[in-house]
Amino acid sequence: MNTVAVGTFSLTLLTGAVIVGAVAIALAAPLYAPAYLAAAALLVGTVIAVFCTKCPLRGKGCLHVLPGRLAALLPARQGKYTAVEIAIVVVALLLIAAVPQYWLFSQVPLLALFWVLAGTGAVLILRRVCLVCGNRCCPLRPKE
Ligand code: SF4
Repeated sequence: MNTVAVGTFSLTLLTGAVIVGAVAIALAAPLYAPAYLAAAALLVGTVIAVFCTKCPLRGKGCLHVLPGRLAALLPARQGKYTAVEIAIVVVALLLIAAVPQYWLFSQVPLLALFWVLAGTGAVLILRRVCLVCGNRCCPLRPKE
């Protein structure tokens, strides 16, 4: 599988994890599920605005395809990532993963599926995408 295929597949797995989290919420508290999905979309948008707009691969070069295309709709920014920007990205991603855990803990099969999808997606990104990504300022990029 080439890197773009791995990038899109890993993003699909992470999206699947979010959907599984939303299903777990919907089974216990139906009104909270759309709120979670809306919040997750907003947080992903924040990550794209804060992180991807500084990436030299934004636009057609993005190894995950969609984030780069969306980032290209926003004004491009330059320079290294600041500690605040990295903190915003980390908090946004942690919130997306953490919020459904309360409902997932009482639904073990969905909990397992959530972490299989999220874990596989994250490992694929770290092992297959980050190693060849051209975003030299990314903190996940291995040191040269
Ligand atoms: S490769 Fe660049 S544009 Fe694509 S997701 Fe990563 S940081 Fe964003």
